[in-house]
Amino acid sequence: MPVYEYRCKNCNSKVEIYLPKFTGESPLCPKCQHNSLDRIFSSFMMQKSYKDVYDNILSDSQLTRGLMNNDPRSLAEWNKKMSGGEPIAPEYQETMERMERGDMPAGPPPAEQPPAE
Ligand SMILES: [Zn+2]
Repeated sequence: MPVYEYRCKNCNSKVEIYLPKFTGESPLCPKCQHNSLDRIFSSFMMQKSYKDVYDNILSDSQLTRGLMNNDPRSLAEWNKKMSGGEPIAPEYQETMERMERGDMPAGPPPAEQPPAE
């Protein structure tokens, strides 16, 4: 999982925080412990439209809760939002449809997913 860059509005430090899991929660500033971090989006990594999508996802508490619980429907919804309405590659189409039905797709299991029966 990626390292996220933040700027602290309290101490104005630029910090990098490793988030092992998608939680939707704002981390604390490692320097001053204030919860006033602004996420910095590298322009080459994430375009502005993606940031809007991301904010939209984070404001959707039901979706973020689903992501925390590895709910396949939430993962499918997240994929759909992050793709910004782009057509899904055909090889992912079936997987996406399965996830929308609540099936976790085969293949490398997501972290922390218990083994399927
Ligand atoms: Zn700080």
